Formats: sequence, structure tokens, C-alpha cells
Amino acid sequence: MFSGKTEELIRRLNRAKIARQQVEIFKPSLDKRYHELDVVSHNANSIRSTPVALAQEILLLASGCDVVGIDEAQFFDESLVDVCNQLADRGTRVIVAGLDMDYTGKPFGPMPALMAVAEFVTKVHAVCVCCGEIASYSFRIAASEDKILLGETDSYEARCRPCFLEGMKEKSPEPIRVAAKH
Ligand SMILES: [Zn+2]
Repeated sequence: MFSGKTEELIRRLNRAKIARQQVEIFKPSLDKRYHELDVVSHNANSIRSTPVALAQEILLLASGCDVVGIDEAQFFDESLVDVCNQLADRGTRVIVAGLDMDYTGKPFGPMPALMAVAEFVTKVHAVCVCCGEIASYSFRIAASEDKILLGETDSYEARCRPCFLEGMKEKSPEPIRVAAKH
């Protein structure tokens, strides 16, 4: 969210473009925060993309591509894993960006399975707004319980593990279980 994952996706795709590779970018069509046809990062360094309703559409639309970028992958369903595998099996380089955890700290949509089948995984981190440590969590400030709540700075803030737990404790009397740090 504030970690620069879209910027990192754009950086890699731009390098592929410089290398004269055929590049296409897809994102779930529910993400309409900005322009319909752009993957737009927070620093307004944008790249054109195609919104798709279903992951399977990517297979058809990506024919002839050397590199496929997928942004906001957490909003696709589990079928995205099979789609990415099929693309990679036919020699396409697939670069996926997405949030690994939802606002409750749980693995988000197809992301855990994607991370398992990927050859390389890069975790980019934000900075905790409370203490300045490395932040891995998206803490929801807004009251909604919907898993998908689009919006940027006004709905979420980046937090480290202790500050995330502190915030969740304040929100709910139930203890929130989070996997142990190792
Ligand atoms: Zn913190």
C-alpha cells in the first residue's frame, strides 16, 4: 500500500520495455481508484494497463507477450495461480505485485499460493507511521468490515507488528492471533 510495490513493478516492466520486450500489464477491474487504463503508483509514475474481471482473461490477452505484469493481485481469486503457472510454463516472464496480508493480518487471496510457486519473491516494506520501524501490516483506520475497501491514505496506515497489534487490541476486546516472529 505504501511500500512501493507498484513502483517496483513499474520499474521492472520499464526495464523489460527498454530491452524491447513485449510487455502487458493487467489488474483486477474492481480497482478503479485512478484511471481505467493505467497502473498508477503513488508517485504518479504510471504505465498503461488493462483491467480484467477474471484472471482467465489474462491468458488470452497476453498471447505474444514476453513479460506480463499483474498489479493488485490480491483482489483476484485463486485461479490466478493457475493462470500465472500457465503463462510461465509457456515461457512468459510473470511479475506479480500485491498485498500479502489483508487488514486483519491474514494472507490475502491468491498471494500465499503465488509466493509458493514463484521462483523469486521480493517483500517490499513500508515505514510504520507510529514508530518508524519497518512496516508489514496495513492497519485499517476506517470502520468498515469489508475485506476489500479501496482507498488510499484515508482508510489505511502502514504499521509494524507491535503497532499493528496495539491498534487491533484497541479496536476489539478479542485477542488477535498473529503467527510468531522468527
Ligand atoms: Zn511501529
